[in-house]
Amino acid sequence: MMWFICEDVTFAYGSTPIVDSVSLCLEQGQIAAVLGPSGSGKSTLLRLIAGLEKPDHGTIAVDGMILSSEHIQMEVHRRPVGLVFQDYHLFPHMTLRQNIAFGAHHLPLSQRKAWVNHLLDLTELTEHAEKYPHQASGGMQQRTAIARALAHQPKVLLLDEPFSNLDASLTQRLRSQMKAWFKQERVTVILVTHDPQDAEALADFTLNLSAKTPFKLTEN
Ligand code: ADP
Repeated sequence: MMWFICEDVTFAYGSTPIVDSVSLCLEQGQIAAVLGPSGSGKSTLLRLIAGLEKPDHGTIAVDGMILSSEHIQMEVHRRPVGLVFQDYHLFPHMTLRQNIAFGAHHLPLSQRKAWVNHLLDLTELTEHAEKYPHQASGGMQQRTAIARALAHQPKVLLLDEPFSNLDASLTQRLRSQMKAWFKQERVTVILVTHDPQDAEALADFTLNLSAKTPFKLTEN
């Protein structure tokens, strides 16, 4: 069975269809990009997967567990799904290390420290670990937000426009770094972007929401 299943998911605000019969299936460790212009329903699709909205129709499941279906709507905090927001949402009163450790609070203390150190190392933040977000660059804040989401060991990681607040050269560097981290940790990722270059550099598959139905998943 596929690791992540989003089957025929449909959602409307009132009578306006926003997400129209979208299907997307991934094996564990695969990275998908959801591409489309502003207003095409990309963020709404992430909100449906995260459980912030309920589909009108269709099924969402991870690792054999149904998150949403006609009769089931698993609560947001119970979903094995990590969501990284466009503007990171770091805790300003915590250091980068403490922000990441917050994501690891489900682990016993004895394991937590080593796991946080591993993530700091993976995202090249070890030497900046004691900085507060306001002392960190945009790229460091982005890496912290991703490390904090990874700390919770989600079965699927959702990234909403991960490069929208970064300049072009940083974006280019981070794209290839992120792909390496996700492949190393075997994280299943769905990222939303309006930039085809993000999809090309990072993702194994692209789902283009601006294309007319049926939505076609293309291999990059
Ligand atoms: P994208 O992420 O591709 O820019 P969104 O998923 O944010 O698109 O939005 C898709 C459409 O849904 C837009 O036309 C937007 O105006 C509409 N929309 C988003 N949120 C709401 C809401 N709470 N109520 C009504 N319409 C909304």
